[in-house]
Amino acid sequence: MQLGIELKELFMHEDTKYSLGCHFNIYEDDPLWPEVEKVLSSAEIPITDADTDTEFTQEEIMSAEWVRIYPSHFVGYPMPKDHGEWMILSYTSEKECQVCGIELRQKAPIHLKDEPKMGRNHFMGIFWVYDIFAQNKVFDVLLKNGITGFEVYPAIHYKKKVPLNTIKQLKVISELSPGVIAENLTRADVEGITADNIITHKPYPCGHVKYIGLGRGMYKFPRNIFGDKPDLVKTHDWFGGGHSAVQFILASAKFVKVYMENNWKGLSLNPIKLI
Ligand SMILES: [Zn+2]
Repeated sequence: MQLGIELKELFMHEDTKYSLGCHFNIYEDDPLWPEVEKVLSSAEIPITDADTDTEFTQEEIMSAEWVRIYPSHFVGYPMPKDHGEWMILSYTSEKECQVCGIELRQKAPIHLKDEPKMGRNHFMGIFWVYDIFAQNKVFDVLLKNGITGFEVYPAIHYKKKVPLNTIKQLKVISELSPGVIAENLTRADVEGITADNIITHKPYPCGHVKYIGLGRGMYKFPRNIFGDKPDLVKTHDWFGGGHSAVQFILASAKFVKVYMENNWKGLSLNPIKLI
């Protein structure tokens, strides 16, 4: 049967039962989607969070009470990037769980290779970690508009050992109380594979609870944990698969308004739902 969907990439899997595959993108409101969904389900191909993504309209972002923010522009790695030296230098790992990675926290400025290429972006991230950096002028605008909940933290030139001139870190200080609503989330766990290529799931032996990043829809939080919070906060809850663990950064509607009014670029703003 031919549906006329453009295939992006064909790939071979030798280690799972789906030996030949392909990638394609399709929107849920595409008239062909019901047919595609039928084909996938008749072939018993599961659709996971890793396969899906949610695009929000400008209106949805502008009318959200709170959004999750994360970089959409990435430049380089935390330095020195080999042998985990960056982690020893900038993060405290005494409390980090050796099994699931939670409780890794920043203790000192992050070192970067050089002044980053920002292109048309005002914000940026680096690979491996989820910290947010911004051009100096961004901080002036945030402060002038009374945005609260962050420290302006230097980023260090890793060879010269001096602060970079063009960007600084937007370091978010406050943390919400626990409470992400788990009803549409998948718990991260230890994934294994049997001799028959069946994927197995077991809870982390450390007992920690952490969630896989959501592909479809919105993260949900109870409204009452936002009561007296500043405009930028970290979640108490941790997200990420395997050993990767991150606390999300959430931003108020006031932050979104400033971001939009200044036509800033370099962050994704994804509405969350308060219940
Ligand atoms: Zn753990």
